Amino acid sequence: MATPTPPKKILLAEDVRAISLRVSHALETHGYLVKVAEDGEECLEQIEEFKPDLLVLDLIMPKMNGLEVLRHLRAQQATQHLPVIVTTAKDYSTELQHIQQTGPVDVLIKPFDPELLLGKLEQYFQEVATTRGVTHRPQQPAGMEQYAPVLDTKRPHVRLWGTRGSIPVCGARYAQHGGNTTCFEYNSGKERLIFDAGSGLREAGLSFLAGGPCHVHLFVSHTHWDHIQGFPFFSPIYVPGFEITVYGERGFGKNIESLLCGQMDRDYFPIQREDLRAKINFVFLDDEPVKIGDVTVTREFTQHPGATVGFKVQHAGRSVVFMPDNEFLQGYTGSPAVLTRDTDLVVPYEPILKFLDGVDLLVHEAQYLPTDYPKRIGWGHSNLATACAMTKLTGVKRWIVVHHDPDHDDPALHSKLNLTRQILREIGHPIEVVHGYDGMSEYL
Ligand SMILES: [Zn+2]
Ligand SMILES: [Zn+2]
Repeated sequence: MATPTPPKKILLAEDVRAISLRVSHALETHGYLVKVAEDGEECLEQIEEFKPDLLVLDLIMPKMNGLEVLRHLRAQQATQHLPVIVTTAKDYSTELQHIQQTGPVDVLIKPFDPELLLGKLEQYFQEVATTRGVTHRPQQPAGMEQYAPVLDTKRPHVRLWGTRGSIPVCGARYAQHGGNTTCFEYNSGKERLIFDAGSGLREAGLSFLAGGPCHVHLFVSHTHWDHIQGFPFFSPIYVPGFEITVYGERGFGKNIESLLCGQMDRDYFPIQREDLRAKINFVFLDDEPVKIGDVTVTREFTQHPGATVGFKVQHAGRSVVFMPDNEFLQGYTGSPAVLTRDTDLVVPYEPILKFLDGVDLLVHEAQYLPTDYPKRIGWGHSNLATACAMTKLTGVKRWIVVHHDPDHDDPALHSKLNLTRQILREIGHPIEVVHGYDGMSEYL
């Protein structure tokens, strides 16, 4: 003979007595054990005492409303899985949306026939028998926390704030790689070094604000627009307490200060140099390495119109080079496989190659496809095939490609990356290569 199951206990939280009497009478007639709570606080007390199998909860109640009761229940380990049927009038759709966020509940719109509630209860308790209740949720081990990865800024890492060349782009076609112009961060875990002030610098600035006033080191590879246009939008320059040291080349013609702040001329911009509130220093680079804490920065000139440099960061036994604009082997359209350090055309580039020798991470452009390059010789950017050869000649270990052409949307960049990998395999230097994208970060 089967053991008779004890009657199911239903707590009815309902402040209108006419409703609670009618409903509890119907439930009791069908064998349920029913208790009524007339406000939210009483509801919580009854849950503790009566330990119902299911709660029928009116949304609008005195003292503590149904939504507050629900939130309270879901926050407690003992009641987080208590099945709940919410009863509410039709016009509380906003509250209903909030309720859905507290976890699964069933809803009955008032006024309702007690038969409808009985039908739901019967269905629910039947499903529970097969472990699938209306409000059933998988049981988590007690105290288990939800895992949510967050960048640990105390660990050395790099971050790409802008990866586009020439001009910012936007729109759905660029959603994956992003459209901000060049801006790269080397973070030692203590010091934050920013390279280039393209439009990506705006986002970098917001992250500095979040951390409070500090000393920002900003290195500028050259002063073409795509490398400086973010400067007026770099929020820390307006905030007292920040100190910003800008490092640039002497050979920029005008000095670096007037080139950066010239963008804030009254004709172009509403705020002027004298309105900046941070302490801003301008430093000329020379052959002496720049030391910031335990980070050393050196630079080398690249093949690009005007005085342009790439930067090497040496820190904790690693070397990272950021060289966004460099037309390696200008004019060469032949096979990358035949090039050696002794090839006549390569020899003049020896200082750059020496600078790149064996670096752990190279952040460098490859802006033009081999098929497009013949029309763009002398524009200051590399033929993809020749850039691949450069990584082989110098034994670079890993390559992040940046300074994407504004004409290259996401699909174009995907096929370009495949082509890059194919070329690297063909020349016998199959290193790991990825395309940088705005917001990309990785630990070192
Ligand atoms: Zn550029
Ligand atoms: Zn440039």
